[in-house]
Amino acid sequence: MVNSIYAALPTTIFEVMSGLAREHGAINLGQGFPDEPGPEPIRRHAAEAVLNGYNQYPPMAGLPELREAVAGHYGRRQGLDLDWKTEVTVTSGATEALACAFLALIEPGDEVVLFQPLYDAYLPMVRRAGGVATLVSLRPPQWRFDRAMLEAAFSERTRLVVLNNPLNPAASVCPEADLALLAEFCVRFDTIAVCDEVWEQVVFEPARHLPLMAFPGMRERTVKIGSAGKMFALTGWKVGCMVAAPPLTQVLAKAHQFLTFTTPPNLQAAVAWGLANSDDWFAAMPIDLARSRDRLAGALRREGFTVLDSAGTYFLNVDLAASGVAENDRDFCLRAVGEAGVAAIPVSAFYETDPVTTIVRLCFSKRDETLDEGARRLAKARALSPGRAS
Ligand code: PMP
Ligand code: GLN
Repeated sequence: MVNSIYAALPTTIFEVMSGLAREHGAINLGQGFPDEPGPEPIRRHAAEAVLNGYNQYPPMAGLPELREAVAGHYGRRQGLDLDWKTEVTVTSGATEALACAFLALIEPGDEVVLFQPLYDAYLPMVRRAGGVATLVSLRPPQWRFDRAMLEAAFSERTRLVVLNNPLNPAASVCPEADLALLAEFCVRFDTIAVCDEVWEQVVFEPARHLPLMAFPGMRERTVKIGSAGKMFALTGWKVGCMVAAPPLTQVLAKAHQFLTFTTPPNLQAAVAWGLANSDDWFAAMPIDLARSRDRLAGALRREGFTVLDSAGTYFLNVDLAASGVAENDRDFCLRAVGEAGVAAIPVSAFYETDPVTTIVRLCFSKRDETLDEGARRLAKARALSPGRAS
């Protein structure tokens, strides 16, 4: 009676842990969203657009002013030369852009290469579109792929590769050499890259985000996906975009027209203004976040936790095994939210096969008091953990 892929699907770990956090009145360092409400000038523009702006259906591809602003933003910040009229489409969040890419580009039976840990939405959407997943497993602490891993994964049947860079939940940023290697495989196997780059602005010195689209041979075979939710710390807004060469954009538009057709025009107008007026925000936001990251990392280290590097995203990972916790990540997270009042995300939830079970993801885009108390509560969870190794 119902589709078997959806029937078998569990509720996403983000919703599960946020639900438990609400139930137990816990501090929520799980789901990735900031404590702060987001830049006030952009929110004021949205409010103004609701009251005095246009509130009927906007053009299907998005407000021209936003598409121009997206092309300008990527031109200035990432050196991409984009034609806003034929290469930029506004979507209802990156999630819709991902769905458009999978629905518009996959033929049933096509092979799709994906990297684990996997953002939760990828695999069900790829499978529902008829794709057959080939998984490449990345492991801590480096979370990198190499030539042998790509040789094993790519074949003449590989239609798409899905790259999330910066990588949620690993908090790693793909080095230039690795991107060049992946580009080489895409060209060799005539593969399209779907690049989920929602975290592109949330990158900390000295790491640097480079778009795969800029690598040799990739301009015509890349769908680059962005999200204003992450650019402006407004995660609930669900204003995203997809950028691709005209032949790809034309077919992506066919998927978009029957998924959502459009995105709220008032939010689009505010994001357009934000992209054109936010150099200060883009300079300050990663510095503020790096400070929060360092505060949480410091507090955790003082409590005896081993913390992995975080070069981008809102996330920091703790290595439970190296921190003397014998429990697996899921059990630890359930104990932490239930008994110690702090929610976190078990990274094993991002693996389809052969999971890494010793890493817990924490969101640090929070106020200092929340981070300090979160670290204390995690230490409590560690103390309560059975079979503690130290
Ligand atoms: N991809 C990744 C890797 C994400 O982390 C997120 C949300 N945090 C999304 C996509 C979804 O973005 P949006 O809210 O714009 O749909
Ligand atoms: N991307 C956010 C995270 O990784 C959550 C998004 C969601 O809840 N779907 O925590």
